[in-house]
Amino acid sequence: MEHRNRLLFLSAVFDRLLCSLIQTRITVVLLVAALVLNGCTALEEAQLRREKRILEERNADSLMLRPSKAKIEVGTDALHSVSDHYTLTFAEDLYEHPQLGKIPEREAFARSALGYMESLYDAMNRLFGFQPQHKIHVRLHDLFQGSRLRAITTTHYRSVFQAGRHVKFINGISMDFPLAMYEKHGVRAHELTHAFTNIYFLPVWFSEGIAVLIQTEYAKGGTHPKYDSLKRDLRVDLDGVNQLENWGGHAEGGPLTRWRYRYSYTVVAELRNRYGNDFYIKVFQLMEADALHQRLEDKMPTSFLVYYLSKAAGEDLVPFFKELQFKVVKLTKEDIVKYIDNLNRQIGRQP
Ligand SMILES: [Zn+2]
Repeated sequence: MEHRNRLLFLSAVFDRLLCSLIQTRITVVLLVAALVLNGCTALEEAQLRREKRILEERNADSLMLRPSKAKIEVGTDALHSVSDHYTLTFAEDLYEHPQLGKIPEREAFARSALGYMESLYDAMNRLFGFQPQHKIHVRLHDLFQGSRLRAITTTHYRSVFQAGRHVKFINGISMDFPLAMYEKHGVRAHELTHAFTNIYFLPVWFSEGIAVLIQTEYAKGGTHPKYDSLKRDLRVDLDGVNQLENWGGHAEGGPLTRWRYRYSYTVVAELRNRYGNDFYIKVFQLMEADALHQRLEDKMPTSFLVYYLSKAAGEDLVPFFKELQFKVVKLTKEDIVKYIDNLNRQIGRQP
């Protein structure tokens, strides 16, 4: 009996011991698992924080752009640098600049600027399908044409007589920026966008709408927010025509300027919302396929643009633009070709 009791006692002790051992093991296993899980989360968080910091450092003023994988080569004196889609040159009046006078300063600036512009290139390509065949040559100045407030984009092209018609071929795109202007990220994104769109001779309101969209959605702190309603915020001139139609562009000041930037952005964004993120890619692909913009001498009329917008949308957009009081008519491709031929004849070029 005593023996049995002892055995029972020993068995109970053993059971408890085993039980507590198992518990300990489970606890240890759980603890290890918890540590591993915690470790994973902490590691991931640290990595995310690091990535965010790198992105912030790299594009301190453009958190909405993704970093680009483009190759950047800085020249030995860092006065001229090259990346996949750009060249960057410092003009002579910056050689003595307090922050750019030394090679390492210029090199750091060039790497950051080209990195930023390549990220913008990726965004322009993703949204609009733009892929200029020539590099965009950016020249930075202290003063450009005596001013720190004016950036100029120049499209270089040669005109060729081909198949009985004059056609323009782009040789290159250059941009001259006063440094003070380049350093304002909204302005920089806006102006660089024009370097991509200038070759299409788009109506002023449409190219400004695209530039404001990029400025607002891809550069921090856009200053032209969208309107809530295209109908409610519509403004017409005395002829009852949408005030966007008679817009002369940047150089034109006046009380309507702010409305024009905002309203043109609202129209461009509305079409993208209706027809999807690849809508403008289709629009520019269709334009490129016809290459009629290469035969324009001046800005394309809105009806010309609406022809391509309608084709990309798969429905007639003339009613949409008429409702917004644009002066548009429905055109066929033959109408557009005839229009261009007539214009060329008027300026003394035989079609
Ligand atoms: Zn503009």
